[in-house]
Amino acid sequence: MSDPAPDHTEQSAELFARASTVTPGGVNSPVRAFRAVGGVPRFMASGDGCHMTDVDGNRYLDLVSSWGPLLLGHAHPEVIAAVQAAVSRGTSYGTPTETEVLLGEEIVARTPVDKVRLVSSGTEATMSALRLARGFTGRAKIVKFAGCYHGHVDALLAQAGSGVLTLGIPGTPGVTEATTADTIVLPYNDQAAVSAAFSEYGDQIAAVITEASPGNMGVVPPRDDFNAFLARTCAENGALFISDEVMTGFRITRSGWYGVDGVRPDLMTFGKVMGGGFPAAAFGGRADVMAHLAPEGSVYQAGTLSGNPVATTAGLTTLRLATDEVYAKLDETSLTIQRLVSTALDKEGVPHVINAAGNLFSVFFVESSEGSAEIRDFTGANAQVLPRFTAFFHAMLDAGVYLPPSAFEAWFVSAAIDDDALTELESALVPAARAAA
Ligand code: PLP
Repeated sequence: MSDPAPDHTEQSAELFARASTVTPGGVNSPVRAFRAVGGVPRFMASGDGCHMTDVDGNRYLDLVSSWGPLLLGHAHPEVIAAVQAAVSRGTSYGTPTETEVLLGEEIVARTPVDKVRLVSSGTEATMSALRLARGFTGRAKIVKFAGCYHGHVDALLAQAGSGVLTLGIPGTPGVTEATTADTIVLPYNDQAAVSAAFSEYGDQIAAVITEASPGNMGVVPPRDDFNAFLARTCAENGALFISDEVMTGFRITRSGWYGVDGVRPDLMTFGKVMGGGFPAAAFGGRADVMAHLAPEGSVYQAGTLSGNPVATTAGLTTLRLATDEVYAKLDETSLTIQRLVSTALDKEGVPHVINAAGNLFSVFFVESSEGSAEIRDFTGANAQVLPRFTAFFHAMLDAGVYLPPSAFEAWFVSAAIDDDALTELESALVPAARAAA
């Protein structure tokens, strides 16, 4: 395993130094800072298809896809044309627009939600869903799972995944004990723990929130009908089941993870793909629950830029282009990449586990292949050999492949990945597997 020795990063380094003087850590979202892997975060200048080019002119095959939104790849011509047309008419009106209706209809048609409210980020979506669940049930407690990340909602920043996990922050200063006093954190995929929590607090639990199939401790899919169990347990106890599909929604299938397990949640949250690379997200669910939202009901929720016409145009265009054929191609590409990675790592004798949920997957570098075939929770994800990931990440970067700069994230494929890109990837994997050995 070797230290990163990147070349041609002068412009990124200079921008990072300037950024660090005006922005904490030099970035506007923590995982971008490369804190876990070291080295200079790349400042991107442009993207086309499945590639991005940084300010130093380095070109990368992109397996992050802006952390999920870019299902069709960068600068898809039809998305760009629709956005250009929308923006030339105006950027925001603060009134309802037709595109919001069309996007709402598209979401209702693809998912089991009866009604949907548009917001601007996944964080807003989960925060609003929690408030609504508490308002609807008149109860305070929330169950979440260790390693699941639902955005930086105060009440949910307890044993959270994604950047919180990458940076090793168990909770966060600024979130008071009182704020998380009503948050019950349980081990993921653990039905007995859920039953025990309901035995003790059943009539106080407003909702169980879970990632539909977690991707923020790395990909750790639900086992043994976990979502169906959660939905049933909630229904039996008068609590709401909230499925967070911010990451999986419109990415795994045309109707997200719901298209895989068919478990009907009371509330759902969406983001990423439905914004087509712009800030758009949503929460939705049962009509009787959604009726409690202002102005129909009294649970308050609002947003100056909610349903922004440019963002909703990008999202609507993306969803309309995301046909079943696109999802079939994403599945195939994902499987091919998993196979290429495994073959390269096996060749160098690097023990690893690949967890997949539809086209989402993570490569976990483990101590030994023996007995670790199943990573099913936060503890399993935490048992990774992080230096191997770091060495692998940097060798891939140097060979022109941009991976998530954290061992606790999913790899995101796009429909723009073609055979040439897969050949590029295969070549990059040779030195990367060697570096991880
Ligand atoms: N929920 C899940 C499952 C996510 O993966 C994320 C972001 O990664 C969020 C919520 C928060 O979304 P946002 O970053 O748009 O606030």
